[in-house]
Amino acid sequence: MQLRFETNLSADEYVNQKAWRYVTLSTCPLHPEGGCSLAKHGTYSRKLPPGTKVARWYCPEGCTTFSLLPDCLAARLPGSLIQIEIVLNQVQASPSQEAAAVNIRENIELAGALRWIRRRLFLVQASLAMLIELLNDLPEEFTPTLSCFQELLGLQFVLPALRECAHAHLGILPPPIGFGPYPKKKKIRFQQKTGTDPPQKCR
Ligand SMILES: [Zn+2]
Repeated sequence: MQLRFETNLSADEYVNQKAWRYVTLSTCPLHPEGGCSLAKHGTYSRKLPPGTKVARWYCPEGCTTFSLLPDCLAARLPGSLIQIEIVLNQVQASPSQEAAAVNIRENIELAGALRWIRRRLFLVQASLAMLIELLNDLPEEFTPTLSCFQELLGLQFVLPALRECAHAHLGILPPPIGFGPYPKKKKIRFQQKTGTDPPQKCR
């Protein structure tokens, strides 16, 4: 089970400080009343950024391992949330997804680069669409696009902040923001072929 490690550290800072060493899990999510044998259970490694490790705990009574993912890192995708947002911003600024794919993934063939980009687009769009259902304090008829969230929060990069905003819903929110299941493809349509956001007003 994936849990949140609340931190303002960037992915590079997390790695440089080996911050997984300071992660604590005082209460077992399965046994909040206590009484189980929850204990540290080492770490697992992620490829990106190089040297990344994630702290784990294990509850033998619940036969469950808990990994504490820092807010800077993407769930179920390599690297950081900001790296994903940079890619999606590049796609948004490109004349087409194909043009973005050539620039962003120049060492792989176009079809593979497009799949790589569209996977990120799809997951983030699905996450944002679910977020506007979950967050009660958004403006009425708010548009679930990255640029609208960036404008609303006044941030250049919003994905790490959205994990914070959605902390109560991470178990159902799709990756890379949340720790829930992959969304079903049929529910999300790409609204345009060229970028991340359709050209419309935010509210
Ligand atoms: Zn337990």
